[in-house]
Amino acid sequence: MTSAPLTAVIDTRALVHNVQLLQERAAGKQLVAIVKADAYGHGVNLVVPALARAGVTHFGTATIPEAVAVQDILAGLSDHGDDCGESDHTVMCWLYEPNADLSEPVERGIELGVGSPAALESIFNAAHTTGKTARIHLKVDTGLGRNGLNSTQLQQVLEQLTTAHGVQVCGVMSHFACADEPDNDFNTTQIERFNQAVDTVKATLQIDNLMEHIANSPAILSMDPVPGNAVRAGVAMYGLSPFAPVDHAYSEGLQPAMTLVSHVCAAKDVPAGQGASYGLRYTTSASSKFALVAGGYGDGIPRQASHKAHVAIQGKAFPVVGSIAMDQMIADVGDAQVSPGDPVVIWGNGGPHVDEWAQWAGTINYDIVTRLGARVPRVEQEHT
Ligand SMILES: *Cc1c(COP(=O)(O)O)cnc(C)c1O
Repeated sequence: MTSAPLTAVIDTRALVHNVQLLQERAAGKQLVAIVKADAYGHGVNLVVPALARAGVTHFGTATIPEAVAVQDILAGLSDHGDDCGESDHTVMCWLYEPNADLSEPVERGIELGVGSPAALESIFNAAHTTGKTARIHLKVDTGLGRNGLNSTQLQQVLEQLTTAHGVQVCGVMSHFACADEPDNDFNTTQIERFNQAVDTVKATLQIDNLMEHIANSPAILSMDPVPGNAVRAGVAMYGLSPFAPVDHAYSEGLQPAMTLVSHVCAAKDVPAGQGASYGLRYTTSASSKFALVAGGYGDGIPRQASHKAHVAIQGKAFPVVGSIAMDQMIADVGDAQVSPGDPVVIWGNGGPHVDEWAQWAGTINYDIVTRLGARVPRVEQEHT
């Protein structure tokens, strides 16, 4: 238990359930669990061991320090006799400056996405310095316009690779721009370009056995067949839908893994005309009761949701009134019997959905969970 008034309770069973659901959709394909940004705010220290114990072997992050941290967590599991040792796992990442010193990830066997000829140059250098074989995934830009090789760069990189030593091409990857819009024709365009790039790589390097991955959560859930022979699962693994609410049918069966639980830190009767929080942007019209709830934008709870959000106390929804402050917010609980110490569900099981918070804040569910701050302890849901 923790003495922090606000905690994110993570249901690792829900995570495992979601992974199984995604594995069924992507039948026979290798699943790479995306755990960047502290596992989308859920906490890598909880999420990575839970996934490893459930048989997940491939992990992906954005940055190198994130990949190193995930590898350390996996190594800790094998040190403690868990039967899911580091050696059975791969960790990959794809976001770094192309001129960076890549000795550490290469030394550690972290797989690197290569999105430019300059990045490949740095990888050759790191392989030379460390004496290790660098494991890479060629990252092709099929239309997103972010990091990734265009067709000229792909040719260039392949030429370098045909004569190279110390680098092993493990896979080809790309990323969708509009996979959350299942009817968007651009998805087909990207799949065609991806397949072409894969064919070119295989033919030029004479490799058969490549990891081919372009599918993210929305692609896994909506595309039939799911393209590639591997998938990168992010938000859906945490039980959140990558789609706008109209397309919810694709996301049926996902179980949100995070419940953000707070506590009432003060409860007091207030008269009519009582203002609430900075700027007094809310005033009671009749006598009422205010419950002070721990949690604010310093914890990542979006201030933009002020005057729209509600929270659940004793299973009932109460409006958040006045501006959400850095550390706390006020719920107007009317004449309800609310006392200090009562639990408050800000989002998750028994409270508003993360999607509702996203709507109140004018953003997407990814943003709501990922922005959850370092002050909030992540604790594992206990099952009885
Ligand atoms: C974040 C990310 C993913 C996961 O996307 P979801 O929509 O959360 O499944 C996959 N691939 C790359 C390259 C990413 O950056």
